[in-house]
Amino acid sequence: MPNIDVVIIGAGPGGYVAAIKAAQLGGKVCVIEKGELGGTCLNRGCIPTKTLYASAKLASLVSNAEEFGLEVKNAKINFTRVMSQKDEVVKRMTGGIGTLFKGNKITLITGSGKIIRQGVVEVKKADGSVESVEARNIIIATGSEPANIPTFEIDEEQVLTSTVALELAELPKSLLVVGGGVIGCEFASIFNAFGCEVTIAELLPTILATEDVQVTRQMRLFLKRKGIKIVTEANITAVNKNAESVTAILESGEQLQAEKMLVSVGRKLNVEGIGLEEVGVKIADGRIAVDEIMQTNVANIYAVGDIANRFQLAHVASTEGIVAAQNCMGIPATMNYNTIPNCIFTLPEIARVGLTEAQAKQEGYKVKVGRFPFMANGKAVGMRETEGFVKIVSDSETNDILGVHILGPHASELIHETALAIKLGATAVDLAHTIHAHPTLSEAIMEAAEATYGKAIHVFS
Ligand code: FAD
Repeated sequence: MPNIDVVIIGAGPGGYVAAIKAAQLGGKVCVIEKGELGGTCLNRGCIPTKTLYASAKLASLVSNAEEFGLEVKNAKINFTRVMSQKDEVVKRMTGGIGTLFKGNKITLITGSGKIIRQGVVEVKKADGSVESVEARNIIIATGSEPANIPTFEIDEEQVLTSTVALELAELPKSLLVVGGGVIGCEFASIFNAFGCEVTIAELLPTILATEDVQVTRQMRLFLKRKGIKIVTEANITAVNKNAESVTAILESGEQLQAEKMLVSVGRKLNVEGIGLEEVGVKIADGRIAVDEIMQTNVANIYAVGDIANRFQLAHVASTEGIVAAQNCMGIPATMNYNTIPNCIFTLPEIARVGLTEAQAKQEGYKVKVGRFPFMANGKAVGMRETEGFVKIVSDSETNDILGVHILGPHASELIHETALAIKLGATAVDLAHTIHAHPTLSEAIMEAAEATYGKAIHVFS
């Protein structure tokens, strides 16, 4: 019998969290990582983008400093410093995982892992040597990489993935963002706030197509107001480059030119070369198929994170990692996807939990909608951040909260109160009857809940 309880391939938020949880539960744990601890999230995703977002938000606030009675002379972006402080943050966070691994006595092997048979993972190291790790359980957490578009080449010089866009040495004068999804719109907001001329080209009729329609409509207006050009139904048929610029030719004949182009059209899952075929792990819709305990069709082989779910969010990966680790350690646990908050770090932010109004109607609910604008919220007015609203979609018969959508300041922080409300089965009336401190942005949630039955105090309904 192997004396290792769990071997984990990949140390992103799915893998490293699974490792720590299994170790906390008394397991002997080994992690195999071919790159850096923290995976996409800490090195090329959540953390670097949100650090840049913090600089972008500050730049945006400083540009309105006079409104606050603050005279700021000659404020300008030092892009080199913006990027180096981002690197410092990434280093600090990934270093923190190393410390947690040591503290939890987790063995880390640097190299590329491949399952060669049930219970055995082979690791190829950079020096060419090979090591086999035998364990009672395997968790696959190999994550994803930027996807590309077959119609043109990503040269990582002028046409970039998000990974390389996060390493730019100089701020481009102009940026064409191909793909108006979450990653595309976040980069568009950030680079726009730094003073770069930004265009978004989106194939679909709308940007941020997964969001509530009122949120996307309003967001589109806000982005345009900030000077971002948005071209929807933009089917790029060719890309021409010269020394100074790159030009996308659209099917419509329109040409979009910029100094750099960022391709953010989705993610390719790391399912190849990890031994799935060798042990017969099933793939469905391009992802590893798992059950509610995160186990694949092969006993004692689990899969978590981007490779196994459609959400592609760090917190989903981590929660799945915890569920898999518990099951590996003999503690039954199941994954529940009902109340997953989804946040978009644009300026202003977007956050959602539960169903959109359209989805709720499609599912047969009779809905009531309560909306409350930040324009009518004292804290937001004082902060000069009045763009957006809170929208609550509730069941018209039971008042159950079906979905919450926040577009506005600190939406990514505000959403959790409503996620908890949905998880605990609180109704819109319960939310409305919960006293919220004044003056806070959270009052907008209370008032949106009141608005579901036409009784918000600070708006006419
Ligand atoms: P990953 O983080 O991709 O980690 C997988 C790890 O496995 C990597 O370290 C890789 O090197 C390693 N690996 C792969 N194959 C092997 C192998 N054969 N052997 C050994 N190691 C291997 N999500 C959010 O929730 N919030 C955000 O704000 C957010 N922002 C994002 C911004 C950007 C630009 C991007 C690209 C993503 C963002 N995400 C965000 C998504 C988030 O980063 C992912 O959902 C998350 O990282 C997935 O975690 P994971 O553990 O499944 O995989």
